[in-house]
Amino acid sequence: MAVIDIKVPDIGDFAEVGVIEVLVNAGDTIKVEQSLITVESDKASMEIPSSHAGVVKEVKVKLGDKVAEGSVVLTLEAADAGAAVAPAAAPAPAASEAKPPAAPAAQAPVAPKIEAASFGGTADVECDVLVLGGGPGGYSAAFRAADLGLKVVIVERYSTLGGVCLNVGCIPSKALLHVAAVIDEASHLKAAGIDFGTPQVNVDTLRGHKEKVIGKLTGGLAAMAKMRKVTTVRGVGQFVGANHLEVEETTGAKGQEKTGSKKVVAFKRAIIAAGSQAVHLPFMPKDPRVVDSTGALELKEVPKRMLILGGGIIGLEMGTVYSTLGARLDVVEMMDGLMQGADRDLVKVWQKMNAHRFDNIMLKTKTVGAEATPEGIKVSFAAAEEGGTAPEPQVYDLVLQAVGRTPNGKKIGAEKAGVAVTDRGFIDVDIQMRTNVPHIFAIGDIVGQPMLAHKAVHEAHVAAEVIAGELTGDKALASAAFNARVIPSVAYTDPEVAWVGLTEDQAKAQGIKVKKGLFPWTASGRAIANGRDEGYTKLLFDDSPEAHGHGKILGGGIVGTHAGDMIGEIALAIEMGADAVDIGKTIHPHPTLGESIGMAAEIAHGSCTDVPPQKK
Ligand code: FAD
Repeated sequence: MAVIDIKVPDIGDFAEVGVIEVLVNAGDTIKVEQSLITVESDKASMEIPSSHAGVVKEVKVKLGDKVAEGSVVLTLEAADAGAAVAPAAAPAPAASEAKPPAAPAAQAPVAPKIEAASFGGTADVECDVLVLGGGPGGYSAAFRAADLGLKVVIVERYSTLGGVCLNVGCIPSKALLHVAAVIDEASHLKAAGIDFGTPQVNVDTLRGHKEKVIGKLTGGLAAMAKMRKVTTVRGVGQFVGANHLEVEETTGAKGQEKTGSKKVVAFKRAIIAAGSQAVHLPFMPKDPRVVDSTGALELKEVPKRMLILGGGIIGLEMGTVYSTLGARLDVVEMMDGLMQGADRDLVKVWQKMNAHRFDNIMLKTKTVGAEATPEGIKVSFAAAEEGGTAPEPQVYDLVLQAVGRTPNGKKIGAEKAGVAVTDRGFIDVDIQMRTNVPHIFAIGDIVGQPMLAHKAVHEAHVAAEVIAGELTGDKALASAAFNARVIPSVAYTDPEVAWVGLTEDQAKAQGIKVKKGLFPWTASGRAIANGRDEGYTKLLFDDSPEAHGHGKILGGGIVGTHAGDMIGEIALAIEMGADAVDIGKTIHPHPTLGESIGMAAEIAHGSCTDVPPQKK
């Protein structure tokens, strides 16, 4: 076979163009007209096709090289050196039409085709990857892409990286919940003969402690961005075309005051990680006594009477903090139970332990009005469904709106880039996190439920890897995909409630036959020693006839102290397809709460000796 040079053909008016994508590797078998590289001038990008079929011997160009007509792209062992076609450089399709490289079973989101705006201005900053939003999704994507050798810009409107999670979400709430847990734990010690007395709470110092925790983490992120040479552009970003984002610069330590200056960032690929924000009920008055989770975390003062609107995890976590600091709680929830998503038996344990915090738990009840009065916020209720309660209006010192979060998809000029956004503001993606526009990706809260930081981080890594693979020609990276089987959920209340995979309620509803292994913590030496034996660990195994008695683990739940720290083991077992013997025969250290997972598996298997003999 003849070895021939494949060269850049006539590329029209351009003397020299930059290589922005290398699409083949040495050893690849290629066809005539297959795209080899993408080049870009200041006016357009185009793909350079092969004039021959054959096997690539050596790729002679790399990303960033400048090429012109006649430059050698690669050497080829040509299948038939004579069978050449006269190649013509094909202008790369408009961004919204470009064909994505083959992805493993990636289902491109079906979305109406939106014509991207054409941006005629000049860019102030250029990069391989633009990341819009510096939350856990955004910074993880940016850092991974930088680690893979790409030039990355993050656009974030606030002064610090970390997004909702680090600044006004996961971390500050856990800093406060830790303090609340220690106060509660100390009070439990009375029964063991240790009385610390009534705690003296200095709310200002506590707020300072929380701020310090946030500062430590966000400062760390800023340092890591620097180490990776990731450029952070501060401001509100809006797409102005398929490859350009305009940033209205912002300033100030906390807010997003506009400076009046603008910058344009040009990008080859973009990752949208613009997150979500709290839903505000339209009839709630604008009053400092009505807050969302961000306002509640400011911890201005401790109210006497507090209403939590919405009985989900965020509301109940914040309620735990305020109640431990002295507030009396009411909670109103439209559904028939608190903490939806978790098995009811797990929630029951939490509810029993926490009954003392609440004056009223109003289920199947909706809030229909609210009025700011000098005495407080007067809130009216109605039955949400038959059987629901319709209590008399009540007056509260603080009302926390915790009725869900809404994605920021409609606020970023997505349509200018051709990116489709759903009516609710979500952006649909495939398993490679690619939107309907093949060079624009989206991750985190903005792509859908569950809105959790750990989901965002994993999606971020996938998007960054796919992009790096495409831009560097690394096929393994380019085929990355988000294919986690399960995503764990945790309520960091006291006790904690954690669950992953199939729940028992879902198994019942879906008619899935499961074998349950339930280990009560009343049989756990460690839980008893801790004075906290109210919890249990539950594992669910496939009990379908096809499993022949060796069913794999399908799900699990834990209620008890440190449940959130332990649920990861169950997630790993599900990912690895473990069965009850695998888990039960894994030696867990004694005495730990973690061994309750091994024992729950032994119970399912019928070999546990730490509980009374099981009925055959
Ligand atoms: P975000 O964290 O929302 O980040 C998006 C970023 O984009 C923000 O910094 C925003 O300022 C920026 N941005 C948006 N639009 C623009 C624009 N146009 N220009 C520039 N910047 C923009 N999750 C957990 O896993 N565990 C928990 O314990 C947990 N606790 C929580 C507690 C509370 C009180 C709340 C509110 C949330 C909690 N979450 C928790 C959820 C978690 O915070 C989110 O799932 C996570 O932050 C989502 O990450 P993200 O990167 O998608 O978006």
